[in-house]
Amino acid sequence: MLYKSKILLIYTGGTIGMRKDFETGALKAFNFSKLLQRIPELKQLDCEIETISFENPIDSSNMNPEEWAKIATIVADNYVSFDGFVVLHGSDTMSYSASALSFMLENLSKPVIFTGSQLPIGDLRTDAKENLITAIQIASLRHNDAPVISEVCLYFEYKLYRGNRTTKINAEHFKAFTSPNYPELVESGVHLKLNPELFLPKNENKEFKVHKNLDNNVAIIKMFPGISEAVLSAILDIPNLKGVVLETYGAGNAPTEEWFLNLLKKAISRGLHIVNVTQCSGGSVRMGQYETSTGLKEIGVISGKDITTEGAITKLMYLLGQKTAQKDFKAIFERALRGEMV
Ligand code: ASP
Repeated sequence: MLYKSKILLIYTGGTIGMRKDFETGALKAFNFSKLLQRIPELKQLDCEIETISFENPIDSSNMNPEEWAKIATIVADNYVSFDGFVVLHGSDTMSYSASALSFMLENLSKPVIFTGSQLPIGDLRTDAKENLITAIQIASLRHNDAPVISEVCLYFEYKLYRGNRTTKINAEHFKAFTSPNYPELVESGVHLKLNPELFLPKNENKEFKVHKNLDNNVAIIKMFPGISEAVLSAILDIPNLKGVVLETYGAGNAPTEEWFLNLLKKAISRGLHIVNVTQCSGGSVRMGQYETSTGLKEIGVISGKDITTEGAITKLMYLLGQKTAQKDFKAIFERALRGEMV
């Protein structure tokens, strides 16, 4: 008999399962079993589907490391019994969650695919059905008795992306996500077009590990012309702050003013990790290419290369949570751990 993949559908919340509140008119999450009744098509899929839901589904604006740990726990507890996982999640913070989970789940040999929708599943014009059905189909794909995809991905509007390469770019269009520095792994058209040369290598012989300990003593600072010493030093002086993602200009450039570099230098010598990522939606940090980034390189700022801000902040939380040694931190951060950077 032909093998049927077993897929676990994990509902965390998000527009896909929301309904309008009668009194306020605002969208809020509702019961997951009712959601499934609205997609009878799922029964036609050539796989076995089981479902599990957060006890209290959330709008993804309420996501945080504790909620990520809940998703990781569900995957870990069901890892042996299922061939793939589809996580239904609000689109607002989906890229952060997919990035976080990519670090939390080490040596995956099965797919974990995040998806959601811009319109609720009950809406006549919903994008939820295509997203959900194709995400499940891709999670079920097998080759040589093993899942085809073995990483954390995000599926939205006909494209499967590496999750930690994505960012939400539109609050209105069905095409809500992009992956500025890494091509899509799969494109859905009349056929599914797979690009296997872009997949992460299989981890079948390595032990699957789950890391739930994230450290959120971190901050994101977006540079802007005119940023003041008072603002920057107030942030860098936050008690117990351990890591900062500094969103700089272009290829990783920032002011050359003495007060600016001195503040960063002092923070780094106190043990703070500062990661340079670009504000541009595509391209890479190249410290030393311009005079305006040479100083950052000299004082020991970490290069985020072509990582997204979502990838950088979650990688910081992960490496800090792992108690990565101070002396190794920069070298480890600058290495791709889950295909999140070059
Ligand atoms: N506010 C919603 C959420 O992120 C939006 C969505 O699901 O697309 O939960």
